Amino acid sequence: MSEPEANRAGTLEMAAALRYSIRPKDPAAHLYEVKLTVEKPDPHGQVFAMPAWIPGSYMIRDYAKHVVSICAESDGLAVELSKLDKSRWQAAPTQRPLTVTAEIYGYDPSVRGAHVDTSHAYFNGPCVFLSVAGQEDTPCELEISPPTAAYARDWRVATAMRRKDAELYGFGKYEADDYAELIDHPVEIGHLLIGEFDVNDIPHTIAIRGHTRVDIARVCHDLQRVCAQQMKLLGVPEDLDRYLFLLHAPGKAYGGLEHRWSSSLVCARENLPLRRDSDISDGYRKFLGLVSHEYFHLWNVKRMKPAAFTPYDLTKEIHTGLLWVFEGITSYYDDLALVRSGLISPQSYLELLGQTITRVLRSAGRLRQSVEESSFDAWTKFYKQDANASNAIVSYYTKGSLIALALDLKLRLETEGKTTLDDVMRECWKRWGQEGEGMPERGLEHVAAKLSELDLSDFFDATVRGTGELPLPALLSAHGVRYHLRCAGGSEDKGGKPAEKNNEPGPWLGATLEANNGNSIFTVVMNGGPAELAGVAPGDAAVALDGLALTAANCDRLLSTYRDGDALELVVFRGDELITTRVKLANAPKNTCYLRLDDDASEAASNRCDAWLQVS
Ligand SMILES: [Zn+2]
Repeated sequence: MSEPEANRAGTLEMAAALRYSIRPKDPAAHLYEVKLTVEKPDPHGQVFAMPAWIPGSYMIRDYAKHVVSICAESDGLAVELSKLDKSRWQAAPTQRPLTVTAEIYGYDPSVRGAHVDTSHAYFNGPCVFLSVAGQEDTPCELEISPPTAAYARDWRVATAMRRKDAELYGFGKYEADDYAELIDHPVEIGHLLIGEFDVNDIPHTIAIRGHTRVDIARVCHDLQRVCAQQMKLLGVPEDLDRYLFLLHAPGKAYGGLEHRWSSSLVCARENLPLRRDSDISDGYRKFLGLVSHEYFHLWNVKRMKPAAFTPYDLTKEIHTGLLWVFEGITSYYDDLALVRSGLISPQSYLELLGQTITRVLRSAGRLRQSVEESSFDAWTKFYKQDANASNAIVSYYTKGSLIALALDLKLRLETEGKTTLDDVMRECWKRWGQEGEGMPERGLEHVAAKLSELDLSDFFDATVRGTGELPLPALLSAHGVRYHLRCAGGSEDKGGKPAEKNNEPGPWLGATLEANNGNSIFTVVMNGGPAELAGVAPGDAAVALDGLALTAANCDRLLSTYRDGDALELVVFRGDELITTRVKLANAPKNTCYLRLDDDASEAASNRCDAWLQVS
């Protein structure tokens, strides 16, 4: 993390700030112009680099590929730049201040990218700012300028970067302690809807891009409760003096990326509440869970990190087996904060938990890959999923969150409530968050064992390093919650609820059919399922089942007319070749979970439940 204050002050005196500037140069062509002036370049030839990845998203993205043109000058004279490799350039030696100017293409609308068009501009630092070799710790200044076009007249700026010489939400100069901080502040520029609220006297802002219709007062009120709940768990970090949520709400999307003082969120427009809405829709609950997730990251991964990430090396993949701690435990606390803050009911929370259990049970990859392996190989497997992913890999998010749940309930049960996962997280935060050292690979396990005085090695061997099933039915039962399994009631059934009446599930094919450009394509084919046994492969286009057209839309209904064991003719296209085969239908597995508060639970179990969910 950041170096001690004494050293930092010394560095500040020695180095003149790196001066960056950015402006949307040609929004219609999606081009930014970025300048960087280095007062004291390396006299042997200054090296510059673009990051290969952005913290929080574990995939090599090679942001240098978006550099359209680049040149350098000093005292008004051109300085030669040589390309060293895919991400680095070196300037010819000069003793004088050196300015590099780059044109950068920005048309990636994701929370990890840079995007600019005639309606707005949004960028992440790794997509647009070069680093200066040898001056990674030098303070940075950033001047943000508007495009010259008339449509940008009312545009404003939202970023958590410290203002140096700019009005609130204005263009002008901003500053950061070093390059790592510079690139940890995403910036949104455009027509912004802004809401403000305080959490423990710390100013929080939500800036929503575009003309989104939303009940902003209600959103601020609910976000305040979520943030206050998370803050209660781990306390206020010393340097948290502000926080910003950047939100984009298009027709359909979902995602987020965490930062130290802010987060970027994307959710579907219809998930946000309008003035007349008063209840919490499933979509709004999902949005609140997303907010809660990214906010929890301000502790868990932005300030407390795996040792392997301190500091980040943005030139190549960095491996850690701990993403299940930093994403999985964050995923556990995201929805938990909603029920603990009273925003959703315990039953609503159990519905979300049932959906998560269902997602894990439906992925046979959980029996092949451990969450430690999934974390380690995130770069090439979780982030680069192929059609076999569900058979071969496990999500360190979903299974990680269930490990956190199982660990929490196990600690509560076996220590009679003396030690909980909350205590473990607080102790980890004290050791590796506040002190700024990275968490060793088995750090959390050691803290959990020490605090609880339990031997947890079998638990972690089985659930984190192994592919053992989680002992959730018994643990939930001891907390007054009944665990039920049933068959899926069709392809839209996400679990979390009992089966709908009159929806007797039919046999299954063991494959997912999706509509695609007028065709129905088999996307996932499960190992050992009827479709695979019949020779169906991912990418095959469905044609007919038992002489009738088979489509993504009619598949559930068609199957419900048959029984387990029926052998039917199945016709598919593989490319332009027609394949006719026979498929033997089987009963769908009971892999859909729902949880219910147990009315007959013992008093002890009910009390444990109340302590866990913090309801009284
Ligand atoms: Zn996350």
